[in-house]
Amino acid sequence: MNLLEMNHIKKSFDGVSVLKDVSLSVKEGQVLSIIGSSGSGKSTLLRCATMLETIDSGEIIYMGEKAAYTDDKGKCVYAPPRELKKIKNYFGLVFQNFNLFPHYSVIKNITDPLINVQKKDKEEAMEIGRKLLEKMGLPDKENAYPFQLSGGQQQRVSIARALALNPAVLFFDEPTSALDPELTGEILKVIKDLAAEKMTMVIVTHEMSFARDVSDYIIFLDKGVIEEEGTPDEVINNPRNERTRAFLSRFE
Ligand code: ADP
Ligand code: MG
Repeated sequence: MNLLEMNHIKKSFDGVSVLKDVSLSVKEGQVLSIIGSSGSGKSTLLRCATMLETIDSGEIIYMGEKAAYTDDKGKCVYAPPRELKKIKNYFGLVFQNFNLFPHYSVIKNITDPLINVQKKDKEEAMEIGRKLLEKMGLPDKENAYPFQLSGGQQQRVSIARALALNPAVLFFDEPTSALDPELTGEILKVIKDLAAEKMTMVIVTHEMSFARDVSDYIIFLDKGVIEEEGTPDEVINNPRNERTRAFLSRFE
């Protein structure tokens, strides 16, 4: 089954078309990577998928449930708030800049949504949080504050925070681009480990060899259009499209 389907997504800002009829789907256990130049619409696509941004037209379907669709008059309709709230529990999002609360300890950053959104009791939330910190290699950082951690450690906390909510699909928007090069590897390793556990993920990344290794499918987005898509072998090793080749040549 497709965990996520986005069909014919269009999105403009102030009359400027940023996504021009983009369609994609993600099956359970799949890793989809989205590559493309800066300004090509990758973040907008993730923001539309995670409903931080509304679409102008098209269709967004999670686990067969329509989050948004376009009616016969061409008007985009979102599911009612109660349904949307439920659908939002299907996914998690990891940002480029970690987005941790600076005045919360590490464990509070992770457990706060569990307690206040998912209404779990504190003990259960703490247990989930501690397990995930262990898994992220940060068992001793429970009481630290974000400013006391390296960028890589902060990003691992934000991955733990997203995983705590037990999402069906996890989105990453350039999870390593705010990190010093020597800290990038530890995050890519965490994501690779999640892929090995068959976590369903959608990853925007500029790390081409990582994308080749971790992805089941790759989309090359260029100026709001999917110019090329396919397996890593097709898109990265044997690109057919001139634009894909030009883009990839920048990473050689
Ligand atoms: P990418 O993530 O691939 O770098 P973005 O999705 O961030 O690309 O941006 C695609 C285009 O949309 C850019 O031209 C950007 O300036 C524009 N854009 C993105 N968000 C907004 C917004 N909230 N308002 C106006 N323009 C935006
Ligand atoms: Mg972006």
